[in-house]
Amino acid sequence: MERTLVILKPDAVKKHVMGEILTRFEKVGLKVVAMKFLIAKRDLIERHYPEDREELWVGIGNKTLENYRDLEMDPVESLGTSDAREIGKMVRVWLMDYIMDGPVLAMVLESPHAVELVRKMVGHTLPLVSAPGTIRGDYAYDSSYLANSNKRAIENLVHASGTVDEAKYEIPLWFSEDEIHNW
Ligand code: ADP
Ligand code: MG
Repeated sequence: MERTLVILKPDAVKKHVMGEILTRFEKVGLKVVAMKFLIAKRDLIERHYPEDREELWVGIGNKTLENYRDLEMDPVESLGTSDAREIGKMVRVWLMDYIMDGPVLAMVLESPHAVELVRKMVGHTLPLVSAPGTIRGDYAYDSSYLANSNKRAIENLVHASGTVDEAKYEIPLWFSEDEIHNW
């Protein structure tokens, strides 16, 4: 058995698709073992996206640069730099504003291979790249270029833990032991 953290971000709430997304997870057989609707506080989000997780920010920067290359757009023109780490750090600020912009629905889902299964259902980080049939592919079309030209995060509806270790780190940030139910 594995557990993963899923957050339906403020755009999912505003688009009234929380139920549809949850239904997808339930249909596959993922078990909801914890859930809450909240406006996340800054200190929680600071810990959820730690500034010192260098590999995360460089990774986000590289994903962004790749997307710019695919779209044949110049990162320096819209972001002022082509340094992956610098871009990642810039995105972090937008990302934190985005996720605190309104209420989110946070949950812990459980199943064998829950982390990998949920990531597959959620699809690629960039909705423009994510396949039809995935949550991001079916409900959004945002891209790095669109988002970054407007100095905002990519709106992609869902956060899902990327690895088992990430899930183990993230779940206790959002839920205490007695909020997670064994049933
Ligand atoms: P994922 O959510 O697929 O695990 P990451 O952990 O790499 O993706 O990034 C976290 C979040 O940061 C993404 O879901 C997205 O909302 C936002 N993001 C990632 N890259 C960019 C970018 N280039 N510009 C704006 N926002 C971004
Ligand atoms: Mg991630």
